[in-house]
Amino acid sequence: DTSKPSHFLRHVIENDLQQGNYAGRRWGGSPGDAAHHAQGMQDPARVRLRFPPEPNGYLHIGHAKSIWLNFELAREYGGVCHLRFDDTNPEKEEQEYVDAIRDAVKWLGYDCSLADDPARPGQPNEHVYFASNYFDFMYRAAEYLIGAGLAYVDEQSAEQIRATRGDFNTPGTDSPFRSRTQDENLARFRAMRDGQLPDGAAVLRAKIDMASPNINMRDPALYRIRRATHHNTGDTWCIYPMYTFAHPIEDALEQITHSICTLEFEDQRPFYDWLLDRLAEGGLIASPHPRQYEFARLNVTHVITSKRRLRQLVEEGHVDGWDDPRMPTLAGLRRRGYTPDALKLFCERSGVTKSGGWIDYASLEAALRDTLDPVAPRAMAVLDPVKLVVTNWDELMGAGFLDGCTAPVHPHHPEMGKRSFKLGREVWIERTDYEDVQPKGFFRLFPGNKVRLKYGHVIECTGGTRDADGKLTEVQAKLVPDTKSGTPGADAIKVKGNITWVAAADAVPAEVRLYERLFAAAQPGAGEVQDELNPNSLVVTQAYAEPALAKATAGQAFQFERHGYFVPDSRQGAGAGLVFNRAAGMKDSWGK
Ligand code: ATP
Ligand code: MG
Ligand code: MG
Repeated sequence: DTSKPSHFLRHVIENDLQQGNYAGRRWGGSPGDAAHHAQGMQDPARVRLRFPPEPNGYLHIGHAKSIWLNFELAREYGGVCHLRFDDTNPEKEEQEYVDAIRDAVKWLGYDCSLADDPARPGQPNEHVYFASNYFDFMYRAAEYLIGAGLAYVDEQSAEQIRATRGDFNTPGTDSPFRSRTQDENLARFRAMRDGQLPDGAAVLRAKIDMASPNINMRDPALYRIRRATHHNTGDTWCIYPMYTFAHPIEDALEQITHSICTLEFEDQRPFYDWLLDRLAEGGLIASPHPRQYEFARLNVTHVITSKRRLRQLVEEGHVDGWDDPRMPTLAGLRRRGYTPDALKLFCERSGVTKSGGWIDYASLEAALRDTLDPVAPRAMAVLDPVKLVVTNWDELMGAGFLDGCTAPVHPHHPEMGKRSFKLGREVWIERTDYEDVQPKGFFRLFPGNKVRLKYGHVIECTGGTRDADGKLTEVQAKLVPDTKSGTPGADAIKVKGNITWVAAADAVPAEVRLYERLFAAAQPGAGEVQDELNPNSLVVTQAYAEPALAKATAGQAFQFERHGYFVPDSRQGAGAGLVFNRAAGMKDSWGK
């Protein structure tokens, strides 16, 4: 599709495919058990990408960008994208998050299976992996590095290690343990594994260069001691690999071609290559090994994209769970009324670049409107209702009579059919549609003015009633005969105002939750959460809606005329009463 904006990652992939760079992937020495891991993935010419979340929380809009990017590129180039749980941090990871992540990826419309994988005939082709399944291999890779003189067990305290690492201006200094013999290192590493050392007593470090200008190359830690039960491997291990060591190995074992990550990892790339070059030399992994490419992470104004900060919102009760419709989690966005199509359009529009920045929240809403407007059924709902009485109804139409009205389900799609509702003596209208005295530019209800009840008749306002506090309690009007919408002569009287309404006789009551940006701060995350939150991010109203909405089901989006896009709340059980969430207003009105 040449209409799609291209980006640097497409150029990289196209070049690799053209040059056949991954076509001849092979092992330098004896493939051993790495080949076993890669079994079924030796399909050399294919682009293999991965989305590697850590199962320590729910996915958010930033992850959607990464999911979209990797799965779409894989699809575009006839490859496959793995869903890999990067579960090397036992304390923070839980099955609940594994399940939620799988759901979210599936909901976005991506499956991890490859229909025509020639390397796996007759096997389930689901490419879902767990980093923790590679712990045995990672352990052997560590012993290999020790044997090659490329790693050592450092028994300095964490404090000492930090203090001797140096900084941007100062080279680091060698640990006294750096010159241990290979035999001694091996024995100490096995002691770590066998539980003979307490947590924190030692780490395995790569032996690279304590004077490297890149601090990540100053003998980074590869393994640490941590007595914690892992959601997958239980208590099998008391040492766990560090992310920087584990991640390149995961990519290599899965025969990933392009390991796409965000810019924060740019400084890790030299270590990524160092490690995989060494393991390839040792014949533990195939060559050429995967390469890392970085792009700018997605930042959206008024939104936080950090699982840690999102967890804080949940735990401190600022929101009602991970799927609160104000949350930027995929579960929250889904409940809010966002669709996979809207999120993908948003990701595409936000671009894939090397330089970061903030995308305006308004463009997220714009993507939702642009995808829903062409397809969402229309409906009328009155969000802040006040009763309007048609005082001449009984004499003109007959007491108790209800007049049938129809409207198109969608103004541009006659094939979507018509909707029907009634007009009677009493209707609900918006409180803001009435004024005692006409403000400048106001053409709705005030005494003496005529407006059309949309899809119904023209009425002439005769007055309004207020209680002792000045609160409007009722509006009165007279129906103008022979003006019904769609009948001959309907346009004989020209009116400037066309108001939405529902008849008291057939309207269904509904709770409507009007959501706004969760954070008032445009770039939240700098200060304390409670100072940055928008205190008006949720307003609940008791509304009346068109009768057809009684049958609305979760996931079905409607455009409430004048008001925006709404979906039934998916948390409402049957019979609990109708609840609608506002996904987005008709237009961006933030700060206006
Ligand atoms: P968090 O800081 O919220 O925990 P993370 O980056 O640690 O996020 P992971 O589960 O490790 O979360 O991330 C999985 C993938 O999603 C990584 O490849 C990461 O680069 C990517 N990702 C996370 N946040 C964003 C973002 N805002 N924009 C683009 N990609 C992102
Ligand atoms: Mg992470
Ligand atoms: Mg992070």
